[in-house]
Parts: sequence; structure tokens; C-alpha cells
Amino acid sequence: MVARRLLLEARTRAEPFDVEAFGRRWNAALQDEHRATQRRVLNLTGTVLHTNLGRAPLPREAIDAAIECAGFTTLEYDLVDGARGDRDQHVEHLLCELTGAEAATVVNNNAAAVLLSLSTVAARREVIVSRGELIEIGGAFRLPDIVVRAGCRLREVGTTNRTHRRDFEEAIGARTGALLSVHTSNYRIEGFTATVPTSDLALLAKEHARPLIVDLGSGSLIDLARFGLPHEPLPSATLADGADLVTFSGDKLLGGPQCGMIVGRADLVARVRKNPLKRALRLDKVSLAMLEAVLRLYRNPDRLVERLPTLRLLTRGQPDIFAQAHRLLPVVQQALGDKANVQVVPLESQFGSGALPVQQLASAGFALSPLRAGGRAAERLTGWLRQLPVPIVGRIRDGIVLLDLRCLADTESEDIFVSQLRGLAPS
Ligand SMILES: *Cc1c(COP(=O)(O)O)cnc(C)c1O
Repeated sequence: MVARRLLLEARTRAEPFDVEAFGRRWNAALQDEHRATQRRVLNLTGTVLHTNLGRAPLPREAIDAAIECAGFTTLEYDLVDGARGDRDQHVEHLLCELTGAEAATVVNNNAAAVLLSLSTVAARREVIVSRGELIEIGGAFRLPDIVVRAGCRLREVGTTNRTHRRDFEEAIGARTGALLSVHTSNYRIEGFTATVPTSDLALLAKEHARPLIVDLGSGSLIDLARFGLPHEPLPSATLADGADLVTFSGDKLLGGPQCGMIVGRADLVARVRKNPLKRALRLDKVSLAMLEAVLRLYRNPDRLVERLPTLRLLTRGQPDIFAQAHRLLPVVQQALGDKANVQVVPLESQFGSGALPVQQLASAGFALSPLRAGGRAAERLTGWLRQLPVPIVGRIRDGIVLLDLRCLADTESEDIFVSQLRGLAPS
């Protein structure tokens, strides 16, 4: 395979056949073939929780836990009496402590958490949702489809911009299985708008003895305002407002491994656990170990910024990023000076993953303007950066390549960035 491709390539090249160059390409191609395809990259896109680049980077504590639990573990084993245990036991008490919930369980992602919750409490019945909250998340999570796949009927109420308590009230009837509220995590409806507060929906649900499920999506466990970031609704506040079940992601603002939490009323969580779909959607031992480690970090909020990479990246100040850009400028100029004009510029980073869609974070980095203008000069430059041993992923805006340094926060990443570019600098 490799040989045929390389020979073909050599034949179509203009220059005469060069044995040594061919040998180097041959070796590189062979190494590539034996290399895992999921690899580390440097995320300089400016989107912190980038779904295509693996969302939340994990803290040291979670990596250690993953290594410790790679072999045989106490996944479903009770060491005290040597009997079978439950895999939820490792995280349930932590989730209850952090959210004030009576009970909690976890599955593979938040999409699964929503699917499982609906399938448990409202199968073959109607789920009432505001038309303003029929959300699509990238990667084909569309709320109306999930409701149908959970075996429920979607009952839309209100309008795109305004939904009132009476809209829900008029829709509740014998066929109602649940009321559902969805955090509009990746868009905003602004202007002449009305939504029903969670506490009002909860009262209505209680009056009619129907459960209220709230999908919060982004999964912030601590008020981000305390770190100078915009406020996001917390599972604890949503439960205190009277929601019966709350679902949220593990790898968005929570900063952990991919998983989905279901927290809330003990009787409903017990029914969720008995649902045969739970077996199909359950979390694996390594993810559970990582989640446990991350949740333990939340017990000490004062040290969270320092220990949780997601929060560290989101709270990084622009002056710090500017200083780094100026420090690295000579290296970048050396390496890319023959390809592009390099400038330090202010940039705007994003939270990503549909968390806080309209808020931007003041950041900084490099603008690389290709020297040889031409149709696809910027694409060629990003393609070249992606071919580095640890690929650098940036973004293109108006024919200029932008490298946002917000996520180049730890010394290890910076060292890789520098040594790769040094190795490439034309001598
Ligand atoms: C992100 C999100 C989801 C999907 O969560 P995953 O963890 O990606 O499966 C569902 N609902 C809302 C509101 C979200 O923001």
C-alpha cells in the first residue's frame, strides 16, 4: 500500500528521482501506518471546549485515576463484604453532595441522559416542551428526535419567542407523561420574549402530579460568576426550584470525561436504574474513575481554578496571553517568516460545546498573513501546521490564519509548540 502510493507520487513529481528523499518519505509513511489515529493536538482554535478536539482537557487527578483503574478494579465489587456492588456508588454520593439531589446516576453522555430520563418517566405518553427550546446541538442531537426515540410523543407549546405558564397548563392532560425544560445552551432568543421560570413550571408539574425534567446541558457545578465568568444555571439551583430530574454533561463546563448525569428524586432515579436502556448506556470503569476524581476536586472550590484545566483555560486573562504571544513571537517568526507575515493580535475565544454561545473571552495570539497571496494560501498554511508531529490546529478568517494562545497554557504544551517550530526554522 505505502510502497505503491509513494512510487506513484515519485513518478508524478517533476524533479528527478532522489533515492534519499524517497527513503525519508518511505520511513515517515511507515511510521504513520503504525501510529494511532487519535492523537494529541495543540488546540489553538480559540474554542476551549471544542467538540471535534475532545472537549474538556482532563486534570492530572483524573489521568492518575484512569491509569490506576485500567486493570481489575472495584467497579461493581464491595470490598467490605466481598459481594457484588453497584457502579454508581463511586460517584452518586459526590453528585448528591454537590447538587443537593436525593439520588444520582450516570450514563455515556448528556444525550443519553435525556433519552433515558424521558424513556423512563414518559414512554408512550406526551412530553410537553416550549417551542422556544426545541434545540439542536451539533452532531445530530435534535430534541424532537430524541423525544420520539425515547418512545414519547412531543407536545409543543407556546411560540418561538414567547411561552407562558398557561400554554403548559392548557396542554396538561391524561396523556401527559412529563414536562420538559431545555437550557438553550447554544443560542439566545432576544427581544420580545417570555419563558416560564423553572419554579413556576415545577409548581404546575406538582399540581398535576407530573415530573418536571430539566436538561441543563453545560453542567456547571459551581457559579462561574465567582471566577469573573458569566453565570450559568446550576443543577443545585434547578433542583431547589423544584425540578424532579436534572440532566447535564460531564465534559462541558464541568471539565470531566464524556458522560451524562441524571440527578434528582430518589424514586425516579431508582426507576431510571431499572430501565433496560440503562444497561446499554452505562458508563465504563475508566470514565467513572475519572469522573470520581474530577468531582472530588469540586469539594475544594478554592483550589479549583488551579487544578481543573477547563476552568484554568476559561479564566486565563488577556494580559497573560499577550505576554506569552510576545515571548513566542521570535520563534514563530523564525519558523514561518518565509511563509507568512506574523503579528501579535488581540483575539476573541469562545467557550464552545454550546456553552455560553454569545459570550466571548478576550484573548490574544498570532495572525499569519500568507506572503504569497493566492486562492488557498491560508488553507495551505493550516494544512502545513496540521502535519507537525503534534499537529497545531488554528482557524482561518478572511484569508488569515489565526492562532489563539488561550489553550497553550501549560509549560508542556508551550515546550512542544516551541521545539516543533524551532526544528522547522529555515537555517
Ligand atoms: C450539549 C447538550 C446536550 C448533549 O450533551 P452531550 O454530552 O454532548 O451528549 C444536550 N442538551 C443540551 C441542552 C446541551 O447543551
